[in-house]
Amino acid sequence: MLQDSSPVDTAFDRLHLWHPYTSMADPLPVYPVRSASGVRIELADGAQLIDGMSSWWAAIHGYRHPVLDEAVRRQLDRMSHVMFGGLTHEPAVELARLLVEITPPGLQKVFFSDSGSVAVEVALKMAVQYWEALGRPGKKRMLALRGGYHGDTFGAMSVCDPVTGMHGLFRGAMQEQLFAELPDCPFEAGCTDSVMADIRSKLEEHHGELAAVILEPVVQGAGGMRFYSPHCLRRLRDLCLQYDVLLIFDEIATGFGRTGKMFALEHAGVEPDIMCVGKALTGGYMTLAATLTTDAVAMAISSGEPGLFMHGPTFMANPLACAVGLASIRLLCSQPWQQSVKRIGAGLLSGLEACMEHDGVADVRVLGAIGVVELKRPVDMATIQREFVRRGVWVRPFGRLVYLMPPFIIDDPDLAVLCRAVREVTA
Ligand SMILES: *Cc1c(COP(=O)(O)O)cnc(C)c1O
Repeated sequence: MLQDSSPVDTAFDRLHLWHPYTSMADPLPVYPVRSASGVRIELADGAQLIDGMSSWWAAIHGYRHPVLDEAVRRQLDRMSHVMFGGLTHEPAVELARLLVEITPPGLQKVFFSDSGSVAVEVALKMAVQYWEALGRPGKKRMLALRGGYHGDTFGAMSVCDPVTGMHGLFRGAMQEQLFAELPDCPFEAGCTDSVMADIRSKLEEHHGELAAVILEPVVQGAGGMRFYSPHCLRRLRDLCLQYDVLLIFDEIATGFGRTGKMFALEHAGVEPDIMCVGKALTGGYMTLAATLTTDAVAMAISSGEPGLFMHGPTFMANPLACAVGLASIRLLCSQPWQQSVKRIGAGLLSGLEACMEHDGVADVRVLGAIGVVELKRPVDMATIQREFVRRGVWVRPFGRLVYLMPPFIIDDPDLAVLCRAVREVTA
């Protein structure tokens, strides 16, 4: 074996490992990480990067948080995993209890799964089984919004934006769903009939074949980082009731404080029939997601044929993941996190608004602890990534979007460094 001063064999990585959305023929460089702590990611060469991504919305408490580390260790001493078929355990029960407590009162039943995409699959299957059980098997399609993102598995992909969401590539291999325009209505604005017109007309025309409407409340994440008015969600709730269509909220990105509320739906005071959470659920420690639903949906499913909900992952309710999820939500709730999010939002706004003066910038927007700089043209990934690393920050743009969503524990000086790097790199 050749000795390498770096413990990460990046040459092997390059030859054998897929990374998210990458080519095996011409892979972009990846940066080997030695460790991460607080808001810092340490590379194998010793470089310290301030994390602006929270590892894709997840690491809200930063890395190696002592409380979360301890929760995993304690659970490790009991068991890492047991099957959830016919068995149960305290981490699952207590995490479900907490989720039922902090989500809208109507959501009473919890289904744990391994990832956000699977939580979305579960939500779609619940909706289909619900109408099947009620004797309306024609209601199987979904209505989703343009610009949405719900994951990469087939069902989830079918409700992602039809243009950016790979629909052309996979045409024929997945269900064709219906799409409506995202209400063109800024976060602060009210909501008029006209911005809901497309959603309304799709519901009017297709409600007989529609099982559910699925969307990301208030903030569209990976589909474009767009914000829209919570008032639209209230109107949508009414429309779904009027047309007898279930309402699914995908809070996988927005959940656990990121938008300034524990869940984005709280901006609207609206309750969905089904809700998905993931990402920050475990503070970024383990892969875990959950799909919550109402008694009405759960009981209907359970009264139809075959009287069971037809899903059951091998690693359902993994005890390590549930234990750290429980610790993460408790830690969040024990702190004035709303103040942190507000402080970060203010820092993002003051740090990023100067980007508007750059020729290449189309828009700057901030909501909660999310700051977005939308460019006029897509970034050159390899170059921009190198420029960020050179400035000691970890920021991972996609397409025309450079965005920051740091861990809630970030302090003002580190936040200022992140913003300055974005200003410089987008200049
Ligand atoms: C990330 C994301 C998903 C998919 O979650 P994975 O854990 O990557 O499968 C689904 N919906 C939204 C809104 C997301 O942001």
